[in-house]
Amino acid sequence: MEIISPSSASTSQDQSLSPPHLSVSGSKPQTEMVALLGEIWQGCWRSDSWPGAAAIRLASVFTLAAVSSWMGIVLSHQSEGIATIWLSNGIVFGLLITQPKRRWLAYFIAGLTADTLADVLWGDPFRLAFGVSLANSFEVVASSLLLTVWLGWPLDLSKRRSLVGFLLVSVVGAAALTSALGASWTLLFVPGPPWWQMFRTWYLGDLLGMAILAPLIIMVQRPAFFSMFERSRLPHTLLVLCAPVVITVLVFTNSRDPLIFFLFPAFLLVAFRLGLPGTVVNILLVTLMAIGFTVKGHGPLMLIAGEHMLLHRIVIAQIFAAVAIFTMFPVAALLEEKEDLKNSLAASEAKFRNLALVDALTGLPNRRAFNLQLESAWTDALADGELVALLLLDVDQFKQYNDVAGHVGGDACLRSIAEVIAAIAETVNGIAARIGGEEFAVILPRIPQARAREVAEEIRHAVADLALLNPASPCGIQTVSLGVAVRVPLNGQNSIDLMRWADQALYSAKLSGRNQVACG
Ligand code: GH3
Ligand code: MG
Ligand code: MG
Repeated sequence: MEIISPSSASTSQDQSLSPPHLSVSGSKPQTEMVALLGEIWQGCWRSDSWPGAAAIRLASVFTLAAVSSWMGIVLSHQSEGIATIWLSNGIVFGLLITQPKRRWLAYFIAGLTADTLADVLWGDPFRLAFGVSLANSFEVVASSLLLTVWLGWPLDLSKRRSLVGFLLVSVVGAAALTSALGASWTLLFVPGPPWWQMFRTWYLGDLLGMAILAPLIIMVQRPAFFSMFERSRLPHTLLVLCAPVVITVLVFTNSRDPLIFFLFPAFLLVAFRLGLPGTVVNILLVTLMAIGFTVKGHGPLMLIAGEHMLLHRIVIAQIFAAVAIFTMFPVAALLEEKEDLKNSLAASEAKFRNLALVDALTGLPNRRAFNLQLESAWTDALADGELVALLLLDVDQFKQYNDVAGHVGGDACLRSIAEVIAAIAETVNGIAARIGGEEFAVILPRIPQARAREVAEEIRHAVADLALLNPASPCGIQTVSLGVAVRVPLNGQNSIDLMRWADQALYSAKLSGRNQVACG
């Protein structure tokens, strides 16, 4: 099965086939619908729409649709002809909507044929089977077209707007029309219950199948779904999913007390802990169990007695599942949106915190970060009675360098010098920073003056080795001057004092002719 992701799917060649006005917001829905239909029709005949993997996938869709239709028929015959949950429409829709639009027509035909075949094999006359399958297809087609025009493609059910659109269009609307068509067509051939009753059982089964299976099929095709089953998260996922399963068993093995609403706290737990993917799995498990227990004569719905009691019990179980879906899916989507928002806020906060402390030109810590680091190094040295060293560096005659190389060339020179300083500082666990225009600093904790001086000399030589030409320099290349101050902090002194001593040393290096190191 091809794996698609919302981002990769939209960048596929399918997008290049989209008529341009489809993506223009504000164009009329009718125009968009016509364009979409044209795209589906034309794309279907292109040979490049059907690479090998897509053809295999199409064959799997046919098989899956046939098997799920067959299972739907079997399920309904186990519950006195009542379709408790109709699986195939949700499955075909879920498979179709995740595929490029140019493959939709073939998927639709595969679903229709498979559904008809299952009915015919079960023994229904072809006319009845085909009409009923056409009604089922209506749900799939209407959902795919309307949701694509309204919400765009691919459909991202983790967004509240898309989820609510899906629930309204596919689950409430399209399933109702399909059920009305299917019930009417069936009653033309088979004598049965009143139209309304036929419609109701058809609708509830269809609604549940679409609401549960389509999101599940859409989600399992995205790698993110399986992250909750990764080894590190698996025990947590299973434990959380156990809660509603265990409560369902407890509730449905008690036929005397109406405890069914005790399931909602467990649903909330799953929504909070596992988000929408976990909620979809949870609702599927609980619905199948609730309907299974009810059909077998167990659980709180046994309190419903009288004429047509199985029908009434199943209807109540279906309504319970539908209410759970319409409550928990939006809650889970809302929680996911909030989580996404929280994550993106944390990411942007980290980004801006970083920006506030990093020099944009060189990527080194900036003056603000330097002040914080110096203060902390000073405080540590004071507490431990240790030495702390500060190197201040100023680029010599940099105005002239700029005059010759231009401001852009000057920037490149500053970046090269920054790289040299950072590389050397790293070898001695020092912290390098750009503290002004062409001024840099290195903090060296726990280092004696002789070693600090060596490091400063190393930097001076390494910058000279860059051999950047500066006509104002006596040796013709860009040089730097450094001032070094090394102290054990004493009470009553502070980090500004260390700055002042290093600055005085730098000043004397400049006075003595530049391109040298002075200690203060
Ligand atoms: P010296 O320090 O040796 O006394 O001479 P200098 O020419 O380097 O002295 P000064 O501090 O007066 O000049 C520094 C120059 O650095 C001035 C300014 O145009 C330049 N400068 C400061 N920041 C930047 C920068 O971000 N990019 C570039 N290209 N130049 C900068
Ligand atoms: Mg300067
Ligand atoms: Mg300078």
